[in-house]
Amino acid sequence: MDVVMTTKKRVFSFEEGDGKNKQLLGGKGANLCEMTQIGLNVPPGFTITTETCLEYLAHPARQLPKGLMDEVRQHIKAVEEKSGKGFGDAANPLLVSVRSGSALSMPGMMDTILNLGLNIDTLKGLIQQTGNERFAYDAYRRFIQLFGKIALGVNEKLFDEEFEDVKRKVGVKQDLELSARDLREISDRFQEVLERATGQPFPEDPYEQLEIAIQAVFNSWMGKRAVDYRNYHRITPEMANGTAVNVVAMVFGNLGEDSATGVGFTRYPDTGENKLYGEYLTNAQGEDVVAGIRTPKPIDALHEEMPDLYRQLQELRHKLERHYREVQDFEFTIEKGRLYCLQTRNGKMNATAGVRTSVEMVREGLISKPEALLRIQPEMLEQLLFPRLDPTAKAKPVARGLPASPGAAVGHAVFDADRAEKLGKGGERIILVREETKPEDIHGFFAAAGILTSRGGKTSHAAVVARGMGKPCVAGAEGIRVDVQLRQAFVGDHSIKEGDLITLDGTTGDVYIGEVPTKEAAFSPELDILLVWADEVARLRVMANADTPDDARRALRFGAMGIGLCRTERMFNATDRLPIVIDMILAETPEQRQHALDRLLPIQRSDFKGIFEVMSPRPVTIRLLDPPIHEFLPSEQELTDELEQLRNLRSLTRGVDVLAGTLSFMYPPNTTPLVHQLAEMRVVDEAIKKKEHMLHKVRALHEVNPMLGHRGVRLGLTFPEIYSMQIRAVIEAAAECLKAGIRVHPEIMVPQVCTAQELCRVRAYVDGIKSSVETAYGVKVDLEFGTMMEVVRACMRAENLAEVAEFFSFGTNDLTQATFSFSREDAENKFLPMYNDKHILQDNPFEVLDVKGVGKLMELAVNWGRATRPNLKVGICGEHGGHPQSIRFCHSVGLNYVSCSGPRVPIARLAAAHAALLEKGRGGVSKTV
Ligand code: ADP
Ligand code: MG
Ligand code: MG
Repeated sequence: MDVVMTTKKRVFSFEEGDGKNKQLLGGKGANLCEMTQIGLNVPPGFTITTETCLEYLAHPARQLPKGLMDEVRQHIKAVEEKSGKGFGDAANPLLVSVRSGSALSMPGMMDTILNLGLNIDTLKGLIQQTGNERFAYDAYRRFIQLFGKIALGVNEKLFDEEFEDVKRKVGVKQDLELSARDLREISDRFQEVLERATGQPFPEDPYEQLEIAIQAVFNSWMGKRAVDYRNYHRITPEMANGTAVNVVAMVFGNLGEDSATGVGFTRYPDTGENKLYGEYLTNAQGEDVVAGIRTPKPIDALHEEMPDLYRQLQELRHKLERHYREVQDFEFTIEKGRLYCLQTRNGKMNATAGVRTSVEMVREGLISKPEALLRIQPEMLEQLLFPRLDPTAKAKPVARGLPASPGAAVGHAVFDADRAEKLGKGGERIILVREETKPEDIHGFFAAAGILTSRGGKTSHAAVVARGMGKPCVAGAEGIRVDVQLRQAFVGDHSIKEGDLITLDGTTGDVYIGEVPTKEAAFSPELDILLVWADEVARLRVMANADTPDDARRALRFGAMGIGLCRTERMFNATDRLPIVIDMILAETPEQRQHALDRLLPIQRSDFKGIFEVMSPRPVTIRLLDPPIHEFLPSEQELTDELEQLRNLRSLTRGVDVLAGTLSFMYPPNTTPLVHQLAEMRVVDEAIKKKEHMLHKVRALHEVNPMLGHRGVRLGLTFPEIYSMQIRAVIEAAAECLKAGIRVHPEIMVPQVCTAQELCRVRAYVDGIKSSVETAYGVKVDLEFGTMMEVVRACMRAENLAEVAEFFSFGTNDLTQATFSFSREDAENKFLPMYNDKHILQDNPFEVLDVKGVGKLMELAVNWGRATRPNLKVGICGEHGGHPQSIRFCHSVGLNYVSCSGPRVPIARLAAAHAALLEKGRGGVSKTV
């Protein structure tokens, strides 16, 4: 007795397949099924599953699973019935296409074979069926060509040569000018090419053709191109495993002027406008539109040419969108006035279009707000938040550095910060060009539209400061040699002189000579709406890092809900302040220091007041002085050089004095030649004394490891008058605002804390100053006091710190260094890339928050801190605070806010919404939305 084992089903007709099961049917197959089932006009066909592909590939001899071809035959029968044609039927032939398609769309797999089923007999049938000999031979030669190239691996050049040869012989340029006879000759020649190349006759049996084609599709899954693509894009088997094969009855767009083929987008993919977009060609087949052989016409032209079909296409567009609820990218063919849909998938769009269509689809009732939010990847917004180079501009970069801070900028090259400041204030667009930058260049940054350095990495001073300010920066463009003395830079054969226009693209790292047109950041009304929705669902609040009133104003425009980090030292570097700061550092006695601080106080107070006014009534967190103070002084080398020059000047000056004296002996009175004094000795001596003093101080302040040295609260406790001045400036600024009726919410934050004792002491200054200011101004200032969490010990002692601190703010840049015991610059420049390559570490922990180590520490600190103070406010202000993945983690451990640079605020707002929506156990929204 025969036992017929019914094994699992390997083939699904378009009527049967589950349109949601892309893993099994591939994206193309699943959508063909779905479109068929919702009543769209799809030619009949079927899909062989991806599992069958894996079965085939697992077979040692790569054989198709037993029974597969029987199943295929049954499905071909069904297609024959639906189409009224016969596969291999000489009188009325059915032709099919064989198309690959996996769960994710990916190039590299097998191309589509069209017109399969043609042979000497069916060719005649096709001529009869269509009454169009030219068409039939064209179809035939295409089939031999595609089948030979794709399924049998014949070098396509061999076909092209024959094709061109015939064209030359008959003297035509365009394929369309070839006659039926010419095409017949081409078909014959193609057959010969194929037989010569494979050593086998052309397979005449349509089923044999089909079997070969199916195997070729399956094999292409393991082809080099496809494997490379998956590796490069990290496509795992969970995401896509194996390719399906789609067999679809052919429809012909090349049967005359009432036939056409084209592609469409249900909305404009660049602007998002709710209008049909697309291109088509009349009398053409499949690939012709993309192949660029003829220039396709815009879809609007179809309105004139075939009004009824245009209307049908509009209907198709609406049906697709109502069903998929997402912008669709589709393929269609018109055969003798009948419209067929051959493929659809979610349309890839730029950020502008993505945001606009999502918001509009909510308004149209097609999707929910959470769906709209989740549809936009936060990082994508970068395109909308920074100016970009005009994508149509065809400029060629002269050098490439690291993309250190995104955005494009055009300006006149300037080689030092002072000139940049001067010209910038005069309203010129400036690009600051340096070998590398230092803290004292900061005023040049404020004035510049962009920053270019020839040395340094993504964490160099230039890169970090530029990112903080949201200004475009290209760092480490090593192809450029900067000569600051000459005020010139050299790139290859070009030179850039001061004042020359240059363009930077901080998103790619490219540098251009001359002006390349740019496009402004486009903060569209739709983006505003989307972000308001984001704020409604997010639990994390999004603050900005901002150091000046201007920064704050910009951050506010990006929707910052407060300032999470205001770095007071940035203000110290401005030109009008640095000399006072230096006096403060050089002071030998507390009285001298107090004198300098008294001059700084009103300046800082007005800075804070400016920020409070802009941000009112939102919270503003001010961090007390953090960096080691020697950062405000010139380097030892610079000072020694300057001293040497001054000493030379002194001996010259003395020489001139000697000369003047000598001359007065040599000439009679009134005839002595005039000798101009170079400088007054006294002044030179004064300058030397000052520089010597600075040098002495620089040497005294020298530290082996400044980042782990005398800085932050350590410095604040050594020189209490510095912190006291800053605290007073904050509280007086707040008091002045309050008196003017401006609501303020100041917060003071202490950096580098490792023990509660440090906090207690600073807290004591705060309390003392606060009550004296309140008495003097007659107002009550509502002030919060908190600590940075950037030292491992602080995390371990969170329970104690929370007794004094009302909030924690994780400084994850330092905390990451401390947790790994890596110095960032050294790690990134020396061994981190190797660690990443060898998978010793998965990511760069300075870019992607190390959830397992640093994150664990944060989580412990949050929990311990809240054990003491249940309503403890906790945030993050490191660079990680602007990165979606890290934001998701911050959400999950219960942080209250993240703080990031102004232009990243929108990205963070959307990421915060994603975090809330994707949180497990929140009913309603699943991951598949
Ligand atoms: P790709 O994934 O490269 O777009 P497709 O399988 O979609 O490959 O097919 C390539 C071209 O052939 C497309 O223009 C498609 O519309 C066309 N095509 C595929 N199958 C058929 C068919 N049965 N009838 C007519 N044209 C087809
Ligand atoms: Mg396609
Ligand atoms: Mg820090």
